Amino acid sequence: MSEKNSYQPETLAVRAGAVRSQFGENSEALFLTSSFTFDSAAQAAERFLSNEPSNIYSRFTNPTVTMFEERLAAMEGAERCVATASGMSAILACVMALLKAGDHIVASQSIFGATINLFNNIIKKFGVETTYVSATDVSEWDAAVRPNTRLLFLETPSNPLTEVSDIAAIAAVAKRHGVLLVVDNCFCTPILQRPFDLGADIVIHSATKYIDGQGRVLGGAVLGSKKHMEPVFGFLRTAGPTLSAFNAWIFLKGLETLKIRMDAHSANSLELARWLEVQPNVARVYYPGLPSHPQHALAMKQQKSGGGIVSFEVKGGKEAAWRVIDNTRLISITANLGDTKTTITHPASTTHGRITPEARAAAGITEGLLRIAVGLEAVVDIQNDLARGLG
Ligand SMILES: *Cc1c(COP(=O)(O)O)cnc(C)c1O
Repeated sequence: MSEKNSYQPETLAVRAGAVRSQFGENSEALFLTSSFTFDSAAQAAERFLSNEPSNIYSRFTNPTVTMFEERLAAMEGAERCVATASGMSAILACVMALLKAGDHIVASQSIFGATINLFNNIIKKFGVETTYVSATDVSEWDAAVRPNTRLLFLETPSNPLTEVSDIAAIAAVAKRHGVLLVVDNCFCTPILQRPFDLGADIVIHSATKYIDGQGRVLGGAVLGSKKHMEPVFGFLRTAGPTLSAFNAWIFLKGLETLKIRMDAHSANSLELARWLEVQPNVARVYYPGLPSHPQHALAMKQQKSGGGIVSFEVKGGKEAAWRVIDNTRLISITANLGDTKTTITHPASTTHGRITPEARAAAGITEGLLRIAVGLEAVVDIQNDLARGLG
């Protein structure tokens, strides 16, 4: 593995973590088995009591899941990866394993809606409080840290407005206060952004998005040092939101094409964002790859390219935004993202529909805002599909 870690990311994506069974298969095997057998009572006892990794039961470990964990760990540059049943269970496992009653989280206010629900409605019941701060104003992070703060949590670029947080600057705040920085790297993947190189302590993934890349299955991952991942693994082993072997096998295959897909998602997105910027009925385009983006310079320093999410505001509010959606014939009307298929969503009435209109307005999510997760179709076909409703 140490030799493998000197390979380029696209090589790691295809090769890292692969372990052959006795049959010498070239493609990674799918081990669909809930438990593993032992040769004798003595071997069973030895495996159960040993600290050495060996397969006992798939809630603990499974060879296909282990291959996925090793491959993603190599790509992110992490000591260890722990795979989970979904992106949300990755965040749950992280906070359940590393925090206790009385602890405090400082989080970006521009994070995934379910993460906010998890912090406000579930973790809070167990005595962990969260303070929300601006994704982009580093001084707010510094000011929000209390003596009982244990971790800082951010996601960049944010959804749906693509705000870019300065990972290195916020990591410096975390170091100064002796707390952990957790980065949800779902939108960029290790191909476009490497949070550990910028000082993050823990990286979270929803593998459901770009790592699968073809909209099939749910999964997630938590990555970090062996010291931080041991309790995360312990939580999963006991509580059970582990990744299924089948989904791990899908993700292993997804990682193999991640580099060429991310490059293509980014190239298509930039072309679409440039086109949207000159449409008369578009009031504003949000895309980190555009020079008009407020954190364009930071994004270009921190990310390899702009990524696959483009949001834009149409003139005429909700009615005009819905007209764009209802006139599509190609683009999928769904809130998922990271798929080869382009998807469109109206955040104000879907992903952000349950928050108060005031909170929505404060977050900049207007009635005319649309979010596109740009897929791998020809950009001209995506443009024509949007042009029909843009008028
Ligand atoms: C989708 C998503 C999640 C949650 O992942 P699931 O796999 O749906 O549980 C977390 N963070 C971000 C940024 C996401 O886009």
